[in-house]
Amino acid sequence: MKFFRENPQLWMTALVGLCIILSFLFIAWRFARIANNAQEELVNVRAGTILDTFVVLVPDILENQELLRERMTAIYTDNPTVDSLTIFAQHGDDAWRVYTSVSGPREGTVLEDMLYVFNFALTDPDNAFTFESTHSGERRFTTARAITNEAGVPVAIVVAEQGMAKADEQITYSIQTSVYILLALLVIISILFFRHARIVDFAVLYKKQLEVDKMKDSFISMASHELKSPLSVIRGYIEFLKDGDVAEEKKFEYLRRIDVSAEELRLLVDDILDVSRIDMGRIRFGPEYVTVFHLLTDVHGMFSNKAEEKELQFTINAPEEVHDVKIRVDKSRFKQSLVNLVSNAIKYTNEGTVTLGMKVKDEVVEIVVEDSGIGLTAEEQKKLFTKFYRAQAEESEGVSGTGLGLWITKYITEHMNGSISVESVKGKGSRFILRFPLFIEEQNDEDDTTQ
Ligand code: ADP
Repeated sequence: MKFFRENPQLWMTALVGLCIILSFLFIAWRFARIANNAQEELVNVRAGTILDTFVVLVPDILENQELLRERMTAIYTDNPTVDSLTIFAQHGDDAWRVYTSVSGPREGTVLEDMLYVFNFALTDPDNAFTFESTHSGERRFTTARAITNEAGVPVAIVVAEQGMAKADEQITYSIQTSVYILLALLVIISILFFRHARIVDFAVLYKKQLEVDKMKDSFISMASHELKSPLSVIRGYIEFLKDGDVAEEKKFEYLRRIDVSAEELRLLVDDILDVSRIDMGRIRFGPEYVTVFHLLTDVHGMFSNKAEEKELQFTINAPEEVHDVKIRVDKSRFKQSLVNLVSNAIKYTNEGTVTLGMKVKDEVVEIVVEDSGIGLTAEEQKKLFTKFYRAQAEESEGVSGTGLGLWITKYITEHMNGSISVESVKGKGSRFILRFPLFIEEQNDEDDTTQ
C-alpha cells in the first residue's frame, strides 16, 4: 500500500488493467448474448420454415400414412435440432390425438397440456407458433402449425419439438473458451503490471540512491570540516601554552577551550561510530530505571555555558511532583538523545529562550525541548529524521552539523520504547518531544532502580 501511495502512477496502470479486463468481460458477455439470441432465432425460423413447406405438401398425402411418415422422417433426419415431429388430428370425438409421429408420443395419445398450443395454431392457421419451455434444465421449443384442406379448414396440426441442449452446449463451450482467454489475458496483464511496478521500483531506488550519494558527499566534506575545526582550535591553544609566557588565569581559560573542542570531537566521532553501529544492527541497549529530572539537570549543566555565550535564556521547566519520575531506558543513550536535542536547540536559536521541560500525562512521560529559534517548514519537518538531512536556511548558514543527530536520536528513542515528534513554525521556534512509558514503582523490583 505504501508503495502504491508513493508511486501514484501505479494506480493509473492498475486502473487501465482493470478497464481492459472489464471491457473484455463486457464484450464476451455481449457476444454470448448475441450468439444465444441469434441461435434461438435461427432455430425458430428454421422450424417455422420447415413446417410452412411441410403443410403445403401434406393435405394431399394425409391419408397415405406411409408416405407421410417417410416425409416426416426425412425432415427429422435433416434437422439435428428437431427431436420429434408429430401430427395431431381429430377423430370421431373432439379430442386432438396423435395421428402419426416420428420420435414422439404413441398414436392415439391425447396431450391435454398441448391444448393452448393447438388453440394458437387453429386461430391463425396460416402461421407457425413457437413456445419456449424448460425440461430438466434444457430449453425446448415447441413449434405448431395447422394443416388445412382446400377450403382452408384445419384438418390436422403438425408439432415439431426442438431441444436446445446442443446449441446450449456450443454456447457454454464458447463462453468457457472466452473465460480461458480472459484468464490468459489476466496473467499477461499481471505480468506487465508487475514488470512495470518493478521498473518504477528501480527508478525510485535509483532516485533514492542518488539522493543518498549526494548527502554522503556533503556529509564527507562537512565531517572533514567538523573534524578539522576543533582540531585546529586545540592545536592553536596548545601552541599558546607551549610558549610558556601565558598568565595563570589565561592558561585555565585555554585549557577549558581545549576541553570544549575535544568534547566536540568526541561527540562527532561517537555519532559517526553510531551510524555504522546502527547500519550493522550492532547497537546494544542496557535498560535501567532512570530518574528523568536528574538527567535534565545534568544536561542543563552541560549546556548552560554555551547558552550564556549566546545570551539565551536557558531554563528547566519541571513541576516538583515530577522530579522523582522514572522511565526504563539505557541511561547513556537517553542522555545522548537529550544532548542532541538541547545542542540543536541552542545551535539553531539566535535569540530568546531554550526550555527543557517535562510532564506526565496518561502514564506517559513527555520530555520537551523547546526553543524560540529559526524553526522549520512543514516540508523540512517531514525529512528531519532522515540520515544526513540538514535543512537549508539562510539563518543557519555557517552553523556546523552533520545531519546525523536527529536520525540517531529517533533510532535510539524508538529502540527504548519511546517516540519522538516535532512541532515547529518557521521563524518562531521548535518543540521536540520525547515520550516514554512511565515507570510505576510498585510493579517493579526496587533493586533495579538507579539514580
Ligand atoms: P545537525 O544539527 O548536525 O545538522 P541533526 O540531525 O541534529 O543534524 O539535525 C538535522 C537538521 O534539523 C539540522 O541541520 C537543522 O536544519 C534541523 N534542526 C534540528 N534541530 C533544530 C531546531 N531546534 N531548530 C531548527 N532546526 C533544527
